[in-house]
Amino acid sequence: MVMKGPTISLCDVNTYLRRNAFDLYVVNEYTRQLIGKGMNVLEVSKADIKELDSFLASFSGNQPRILAIGAGTVIDAVKYLCFKTGGVFNIIPSALSTNSFATHRNSFFDKERGKVSFDSVVANEIIVDFDLIKQAYILNKFGLVEIASTATAQVDCDIAYQQNKETFSSSLRERARKLVEDTQSIMAENIARKDMLEKLLHLLLESGALTRENGNGRMVSGSEHIISSYIESEKPCPHGMGLLFGIMVASALQDNAGYPNKHVEIIVELLKKDLDIRTYVGTNATATQIINALEKVRPRTDKFTILDIVPREQFLEIGSEVVRNYFDNL
Ligand SMILES: [Zn+2]
Repeated sequence: MVMKGPTISLCDVNTYLRRNAFDLYVVNEYTRQLIGKGMNVLEVSKADIKELDSFLASFSGNQPRILAIGAGTVIDAVKYLCFKTGGVFNIIPSALSTNSFATHRNSFFDKERGKVSFDSVVANEIIVDFDLIKQAYILNKFGLVEIASTATAQVDCDIAYQQNKETFSSSLRERARKLVEDTQSIMAENIARKDMLEKLLHLLLESGALTRENGNGRMVSGSEHIISSYIESEKPCPHGMGLLFGIMVASALQDNAGYPNKHVEIIVELLKKDLDIRTYVGTNATATQIINALEKVRPRTDKFTILDIVPREQFLEIGSEVVRNYFDNL
């Protein structure tokens, strides 16, 4: 059965908070100031598998009503809490940085395994305040990288299909292809513009819907997400930064193995040229950190991708070259 998606409503964050009360507010260090004194607040800074018990300890009752105000990390914590307690939750996204507000998947970092993902629950409602979201500028840029990953993920689907490893719903694949085209069309636009943020929101919602309807993230998440999970685990960074390298490396591997794709090519060029992303990466990471993380990457048994057909040495050689080239040209 396909899980129902959250309802979407537009509302100013302060007005919403005045009109609605929750048993628990889950925030990050930036959104904490939005919640008044005397409220039950859990501040989350890490989506680490070791934190799960401390999330549960933050609320003792049953079926809590929870409000999440934040992005990826906060949303993962709330999904886990509701999954375990039968609670319901609404989300006020403070950034459009991942598709996590629209999916039923839960992800946590594990030092050994990179990232561990499992099924949990979907939000009841998403309350959108574009004035709040606008302030997260670079994180919204990373939301573009999240939907851009659909391009390499789709090539991985082609590979899995051709190698007789998996079959796919043709209607979902068609929607994923459309998502790639729509993503491409907004990538060079100014993401600070409200109409562009609206488009980005809808594309992330579609990415989330494809995840729910397929039962897993396969349509929008392939080898680039596997690579990214190791980068994010080794060098804590926004999901989109890990994904940037994931997409660049995955596309070079796919191209080299005889699976070139024109959408992937265009998207990679646009990502490489993006000045905001270049500045962010240049000040927050080094080529050595990313290459060290690549050493840990392993294919996943539950997801057949380009990583299953490229020999390890070749993966490291091509991956390191892609990373070095990016940093050399910053
Ligand atoms: Zn993602």
